[in-house]
Amino acid sequence: MVFNFSCFRKMVMKRMRILVASIVLLNLLFTNLVVFADQNYSTTIEKNDLKNQALTYMENSVLNQTSPNNEENNSNKILNKKIIVIDPGHGGSNPGATQYGMRESDNNLSVGLKLKKLLENSGAKVIMTRETDRSVAEEGVQLKQELQARVDLVDVNNADVFISIHSNANENADVHGVMTFYYNDISKRLAVDIQKSLIEFTEATDKGTEKENFYVLRNNKIPAVLVEMGFITNKSEAIKLNDDVYRNALVNGLYNGIVNYFNELNIE
Ligand SMILES: [Zn+2]
Repeated sequence: MVFNFSCFRKMVMKRMRILVASIVLLNLLFTNLVVFADQNYSTTIEKNDLKNQALTYMENSVLNQTSPNNEENNSNKILNKKIIVIDPGHGGSNPGATQYGMRESDNNLSVGLKLKKLLENSGAKVIMTRETDRSVAEEGVQLKQELQARVDLVDVNNADVFISIHSNANENADVHGVMTFYYNDISKRLAVDIQKSLIEFTEATDKGTEKENFYVLRNNKIPAVLVEMGFITNKSEAIKLNDDVYRNALVNGLYNGIVNYFNELNIE
């Protein structure tokens, strides 16, 4: 067989054109699919399924240790360089409330550490009063000194807000729900924003906000709140408080409450 070079070249060129056309076509198709998937994703979020939103968000920003998506980053620029003290209640020889083999201090610490990661991903500077199971002041000192050691971190770090995290207890095992305490007028809005957001994300019973004379609140010069995430004396709430998915919902509630608070301040 005689090799016809011209014919071969034509054939190669034809195949090349087909190949290029196929690549262009596939590329277009793929882009459309991505856009379509993206739109579907947006619609899902718009449906405001808060639990899914919380989970998706945690997957994006905490569990995978990556930054939140661009949209979240833009809306949360407000946290950039904000100084936030997170105070996981109790610790060390003081476990706080205990029930069903659960210690309040462990719940508080777990949620506090998750919240720290989320806030830092948005550029906030986070000061933890404790990051392990320990007291903040030296073990054995009076409770007042232990609590003052927590408040002292506000002044030392020139913080913007103080968030104390607790789990509640009651003699009546039926009592359940989330509540947020504040002491002075400068703290009320922060309490309201956090409480509202916590209820949105957890769908827990809303026990509202209340003025309360707690040491860490009344001795704070900056907006300060104390969150009671739920009652460990109520069995179903205790199970939730021990559950990682529910803790993530609490963290998202706290996080969004803080973001909303700073956004509102910025508008004024
Ligand atoms: Zn407590």
